[in-house]
Amino acid sequence: MDYDVIIIGAGPGGIFSAYELVKLRKDLKIAVFEVGNPLEKRKCPIDGEKIKSCVGCKPCSIMNGFGGAGAFSDGKYNITNQFGGTLYEYVGKKKAIELMKYVDDINTSHGGAQTKLYSTANTDIKKLCLKNDLHLLDASVRHLGTDINYVVLENIYNELKNSVDFHFLSFVEKVEMEKDGSYKVYVKDESFTSKYCIISAGRSGSKWMEQVSRDLEIPTKSNRVDIGVRVELPYEVFSHLTDELYESKIVYRTAKYGDLVRTFCMNPKGAVVNENTNGIVTVNGHSYEDPEKQTENTNFALLVAKHFSEPFKDSNGYGESIAKLSNMLGGGVIVQRFGDLTTGHRSTQSRIDEAFITPTLAATPGDLSLVMPKRILDGIIEMVYKLDKIAPGTANDDTLLYGVEVKFYNMEVDINENLETLHKNLFIIGDCSGITHSLSHASASGIHVARCIAERNYNK
Ligand SMILES: Cc1cc2nc3c(=O)[nH]c(=O)nc-3n(C[C@H](O)[C@H](O)[C@H](O)COP(=O)(O)OP(=O)(O)OC[C@H]3O[C@@H](n4cnc5c(N)ncnc54)[C@H](O)[C@@H]3O)c2cc1C
Repeated sequence: MDYDVIIIGAGPGGIFSAYELVKLRKDLKIAVFEVGNPLEKRKCPIDGEKIKSCVGCKPCSIMNGFGGAGAFSDGKYNITNQFGGTLYEYVGKKKAIELMKYVDDINTSHGGAQTKLYSTANTDIKKLCLKNDLHLLDASVRHLGTDINYVVLENIYNELKNSVDFHFLSFVEKVEMEKDGSYKVYVKDESFTSKYCIISAGRSGSKWMEQVSRDLEIPTKSNRVDIGVRVELPYEVFSHLTDELYESKIVYRTAKYGDLVRTFCMNPKGAVVNENTNGIVTVNGHSYEDPEKQTENTNFALLVAKHFSEPFKDSNGYGESIAKLSNMLGGGVIVQRFGDLTTGHRSTQSRIDEAFITPTLAATPGDLSLVMPKRILDGIIEMVYKLDKIAPGTANDDTLLYGVEVKFYNMEVDINENLETLHKNLFIIGDCSGITHSLSHASASGIHVARCIAERNYNK
């Protein structure tokens, strides 16, 4: 056997499982295979001047490499069972929260100690929301910020690098189960074996994960995608919420269709950014702790959850097709003023330039109603007017909407309470399992599996 444990993917799921395994079992030989670069070599070429939009690098420095999809994210670790995944359905609510708090301890002891932990407990904002038929979800959120998140990752890597074999620029093509129950992974023209295998391939590995599930006959199901826009407005409009809570997850059931629309990934004084998933450019956002890097705007997503029932199975394909339409019309992400959208006008560059807000992303002015399905767009417009009641100014004409933002959900793989598949010692964790969709849940799933392996292996 080359290794005791092979981990596929160096995102939060993979990193935290390696961290806990090293802590609990110094005797184990552990390898991490990662298709992307080490942290310091991850550089997205978009500089806003010479290169303004995604040029489709392989591997993509935003999604792949040490730190995973979260490396340049806003580093918001939400400690809650109300969103970010359904880990609690597998490990229990109490344990899920304990695991997320443990992850928070690791982050704070590796460079994040000075960052703030926000909480929705005892806030009047909840009441204000309820008065307007809006629902504020409960959470504590540690906001590391893009800069401190990087420092934390750097410190964890430096601690792990002498105990773990990191193989970067190493795409695992195939995972095979051997006759003796061990696992073999194929990388370029080499192969490596291990007793335990942890797959943590994240969102960017979703298509690959589907293939692995087919090869190993692991049952899966898939039926959800969230589609929406990123809203950008002056920081002052939401400051009473973001100063107190930093991130507020607010849910609304639309009067017209009964769909759920929610705010997602709020970035006070942040910037809107491109995201590239499997060659499709969508929109996202982040912000920095460092005041020097902050902007005058706040951004957040408004997402409508779309659940499909049989016989339709390709919910991600549906989301991709809508994103492709915006790429086709705008060459990437489209931006539109709210006032233009509600009056049926395409936004033009001159209208955007004349607005009282400066966009933080150079997107193509256009018409989102040519891209988004009516039902989804109606829900977003309804939600903007609702939010205007608790944060007046949200429905101003100059509010910018960037589209499309798509939250792809990996298909859910069939795993048990140990996050283990029907094949003994093969674990699937993080976003590629379909049960986590966030930094804290993905990291917590890594800790959980590491503890299972550490215990099980004592009688090796
Ligand atoms: C721009 C952005 C901002 C975000 N902001 C936040 C936030 O503030 N808060 C939050 O909770 N969540 C945020 N998220 C989501 C969060 O980053 C993910 O939920 C989290 O990273 C999932 O962790 P993971 O380890 O499961 O997967 P990932 O982080 O996606 O890591 C998986 C890793 O596996 C590698 N990989 C995939 N396939 C293979 C293969 N076959 N062989 C080898 N390696 C492979 C990939 O290169 C990747 O590095 C954000 C995401 C993005 C893109």
